[in-house]
Amino acid sequence: MRQSATVPPQAVQAGCLAPLLAGCVRELVHGNPGLLHELTRVHGSPLHVVWPHLLQENARAMASVLEAHDLPFQLFYGAKVNKSPGLVRAARQCGIGVDVSSLYELRDALAAGAHGAYVVATGPAKPDDFLHALVEARCLVSVDGLEEFDTLQQIARAHGGPAPRALLRYRPHAAAASRFGMGADELLHCMRMAARPESALRFDGFHFHLSGYDHAPRAQAVAELAAHVDAARSMGLVPRMIDIGGGLPIRYVDAGAYEDFLQGQHAGDYRTGRVPASFYPYGCRVDACEWLRRFLASPCHEGQSVGRYLRDTDCSLAIEPGRSLADQAAISVFRVHSSKLLAQGGHVVFVEGSSFSACETWFSSEFLVDPLLIPCGPRAQVPTRAYIAGHSCLDDDVITNRWIGFPTVPQRGDLLVYANTAGYQMDLLENEFHRHPMPHRLLALQDAAGALRFEPDKPVE
Ligand SMILES: *Cc1c(COP(=O)(O)O)cnc(C)c1O
Repeated sequence: MRQSATVPPQAVQAGCLAPLLAGCVRELVHGNPGLLHELTRVHGSPLHVVWPHLLQENARAMASVLEAHDLPFQLFYGAKVNKSPGLVRAARQCGIGVDVSSLYELRDALAAGAHGAYVVATGPAKPDDFLHALVEARCLVSVDGLEEFDTLQQIARAHGGPAPRALLRYRPHAAAASRFGMGADELLHCMRMAARPESALRFDGFHFHLSGYDHAPRAQAVAELAAHVDAARSMGLVPRMIDIGGGLPIRYVDAGAYEDFLQGQHAGDYRTGRVPASFYPYGCRVDACEWLRRFLASPCHEGQSVGRYLRDTDCSLAIEPGRSLADQAAISVFRVHSSKLLAQGGHVVFVEGSSFSACETWFSSEFLVDPLLIPCGPRAQVPTRAYIAGHSCLDDDVITNRWIGFPTVPQRGDLLVYANTAGYQMDLLENEFHRHPMPHRLLALQDAAGALRFEPDKPVE
């Protein structure tokens, strides 16, 4: 017979991939589970809680690495990573910029008080009204192609006023087949046009953004740009900035535990009977600050490091981190609707909410971070394994396909907390499927005395 002990109503650890938690997040989840129950009673499930000051702490940590290298730099928060206007305001309030890819992200940045000098527009296929608004607000524009270069020239000419600042988006060799950016010939063409006296644009330098999370291909791309920097100078242009995009990593779980998990996992760990083909590096050894140090120390041009090359060429380094600036900045709380014993053994836990609010399974992958179980009352210990499903009738509406070991069967009214969901997880795919209303988002704000208060996370009117 199994020993049965009583589980007190505090957060208990499920599975083997415990989330790393910032202090203030831990205090709420572990220190005040009653408050989380109360918040979901009032605001519904799922509920996203956002800590804007954590974005500011992340920004300060990255800035201190760049300051230690004595490098002129500008950070832009990649605002697409999360729909929270509170995070955009936090970015502005700590003096960093915002990277916008739509008219709506631009409006949020301007509403948050961002001056155009603190806004860069990236992304492809910018509509004319977006380009107009960017010129109007005097933002920095990363030009994605020849046609966009011509359109921006025309808009700038029609607008009059000071010439808009433009970066040219480069397509690195590492992404030769990408649809984003321009190859050498197109860059040359744009630089020639920008160098003409009648140009209505001010060329400011180069931009690229690579997918993946390694620093080495980014250092390589800076090395590739060296010839273009020289070419620009020879035409009388002044390259002032090299913008390396985003892609700095987040560590979600302990690196050792993660490596052990990856080595030990097998098809039977997933209800699908399949190990997903790829995962985000949830337990990477290198965090964003160490990534930056390694990037700056990487070999670049003629034996110089990236940091040295940028200093010697008088170029400031721009970075547009999305995910890594949002590290730890939100949790997503799901209330358990019910648990059902499955014919093949184990349970399925139905939550009030859907996988659109924790969306990795829609990308044929998995959010390899265990949810924390917060029981709503004392409970006998009855270990089980369960996967987590949403409340829709889509067979694929599964938040976690992985079987997760629980010390007790989650029951109606319990909470499952997914930590660190701010980076693309919590709201990228959210919608009103089944006409369920959109999940609520709360800002967790701390006053000077450390007292916590919650506010709806809305744009300022
Ligand atoms: C998405 C994106 C970013 C942010 O990327 P992260 O991986 O979230 O850091 C930055 N720049 C551009 C151009 C992007 O498309």
